Amino acid sequence: MRKIELLRELQELDSALDRDRERLRQLHARLGDESELVPYRESLETARRQLRSLRTKGLDLDLKLEKETSKRKKDEKKLYDGSIKNSKELSSLAQDVEAQRQRISKIEDQALMNMDAMESEAVTLQEAERALAEKEEAWKAEQSALEVECSALTVEVERLRVARARVAVQLDAPTLRSYDSLRRLRGGVAVVAVEQRACRGCRISLSSSEVQRARSSTEPVTCQSCGRMLYVP
Ligand SMILES: [Zn+2]
Repeated sequence: MRKIELLRELQELDSALDRDRERLRQLHARLGDESELVPYRESLETARRQLRSLRTKGLDLDLKLEKETSKRKKDEKKLYDGSIKNSKELSSLAQDVEAQRQRISKIEDQALMNMDAMESEAVTLQEAERALAEKEEAWKAEQSALEVECSALTVEVERLRVARARVAVQLDAPTLRSYDSLRRLRGGVAVVAVEQRACRGCRISLSSSEVQRARSSTEPVTCQSCGRMLYVP
């Protein structure tokens, strides 16, 4: 087999290895990456926090209500049990009781509003829990698929590596060295086809004698413009 044929095979294997290794790198980056779950967890945490603070507020309002109610009961008792004879004192107490009644009514309104807010926050919390559970399920399924792809690709990379070694061993060291340095210099592509009498690497036109040499020479022929090794399909 001519050197250029072996080099072309080597190039095909190396390109496949480059592609598969890049894909593996992407897969490894995504495996275990929970960042897309973070906003869902944050929404759930916010709803929980909100609900806790509404509950605390509700308890405070209940306490306040209890305090005001017992004070009013006491004052009302005093107002009607005949213990106060002074009419000025009586009317001032009556005013106090009325003010208390208004305060209590205000607190009751606040407590009602707070209960409404708690109900709606409880719905938000349920929705956040459901959304997170759904997202987690999708995430787990995706992770399993990524793991399957990852192990298949690892096997494939190993197969390509073995195949590459089998081809590389048939080439002499100087040829392999120039192939490797060309790959480094030319974005991973050292060997290119001649297509319609042009180098497929840089698209420059080749003379008939260059094409002829590329077709028949025992040593690899390189493109005058980009330096890549040329083969004629
Ligand atoms: Zn070229």
